[in-house]
Amino acid sequence: MVTERLSVVDIIRRKRDGLTLESEEVRFLIQGYVQGKVADYQMAAFLMAVYFRGLEPREMTDLTLTMARSGDMVDFGDDPRVVDKHSTGGVGDKTTLVLAPLVASAGAVVAKMSGRALGHTGGTIDKLESIPGFRTSLDREEFFRLAREVGAVVAGQTGNLVPADKLLYALRDVTATVESVGLIASSIMSKKIAGGARRLVLDVKTGRGAFMKERKKAQELAQAMVDIGRGAGVRVVAVVTAMDQPLGRAVGNALEVAEAVRCLAGQGPPDLEELCVRLGAHMLLLSGVEGELDRAEERLRRLIRSGEALERFRRMVVAQGGDGRVADPGSPVLPAAPAREAARSHRSGWVQAIDALAVGRLAMRLGAGRERKEDSIDPSVGVVLEAKVGDRVEKGDVLGVVHARDREAARWGAARLEEAFVLGDVRVEAPALILETVS
Ligand code: URA
Repeated sequence: MVTERLSVVDIIRRKRDGLTLESEEVRFLIQGYVQGKVADYQMAAFLMAVYFRGLEPREMTDLTLTMARSGDMVDFGDDPRVVDKHSTGGVGDKTTLVLAPLVASAGAVVAKMSGRALGHTGGTIDKLESIPGFRTSLDREEFFRLAREVGAVVAGQTGNLVPADKLLYALRDVTATVESVGLIASSIMSKKIAGGARRLVLDVKTGRGAFMKERKKAQELAQAMVDIGRGAGVRVVAVVTAMDQPLGRAVGNALEVAEAVRCLAGQGPPDLEELCVRLGAHMLLLSGVEGELDRAEERLRRLIRSGEALERFRRMVVAQGGDGRVADPGSPVLPAAPAREAARSHRSGWVQAIDALAVGRLAMRLGAGRERKEDSIDPSVGVVLEAKVGDRVEKGDVLGVVHARDREAARWGAARLEEAFVLGDVRVEAPALILETVS
């Protein structure tokens, strides 16, 4: 048997010395680790070797596929309309809430598994659960049925999806090896592939509020995931986008759902609509619903203006047990925080920057997110920005409003929110949001 000649120590040594591993070596190591035959200290040494030596595209593909196959896998067969999207995480990123129904209303199928909030970034599942009655825990049969009937379904991860990633991520977290482009790319792609993605649009965020602070690293990550897709038979388009200031105006679960509804009604913040239309257009190209980016964007804008995208959102919500009135303009069904406090500008000037990381942390500390996995969240709290980068403000103008559990938290939050704004005398333009596309 081939594996008899493989040795974990040799594999670690070969990676340490900068050699490229054979596919069977990657499989032997990862499968062995999941089965408990490779020790934590050996895997830790391997991860550190990868951190310094990196991974070739083929090694990343082998790692990704081995991880993806380590547990349950979802399979939509060869339905070409099924398309997925993933964001590497940011502040105020509610694009999935808009994109799933929007793209479904154009004829594609989005059946997506999403995560929960952790750290300063929010999670789609928590956002959706702020809608009264909305169920994110679906069994396999219901998940497939809703994909077929509604064209849009978003559920939490169930079952035993990619156990290898759970084990490896926990080890990376305590061995200072999270920040390796090859490991991050393989980790993300393994979950998408196990979740059934065969066509995938990635939103790779970069900037203050993103996982990848530097644009160069974000580009590398985007390229790595496109390369893995090529090797694994998944069509991938990666869009690198700015995450220096929050996306849109709302940060916090119910507040973001309300903003997604406004966006689907054609009254959302321009940056959010721009990003959703671009990502959605790539999804339509991948699923074969449209053949050209411009035409796809135009079609999505029409579906927003006609109300069809919003109606699809209502259908998706009702199908998952939620209160469909959430899609009514100004609907009172979402939970509202009892205390509000405005952050006001201490001077006149132009908004130069809004620190997305600071706003994300503020929302988390108000109760919108989790510091640790076991923390519970408050769906009603968060922040709504009144000014964005490039806006002119006068002294005393409202920069944003903090929604909190009580007066004290609201006042504390308003002071923090004001600190997140950088104001100056130099006029600045609203910065570019969509930086580049890798495909
Ligand atoms: N997100 C993931 O899913 N995996 C990583 O390794 C890093 C960020």
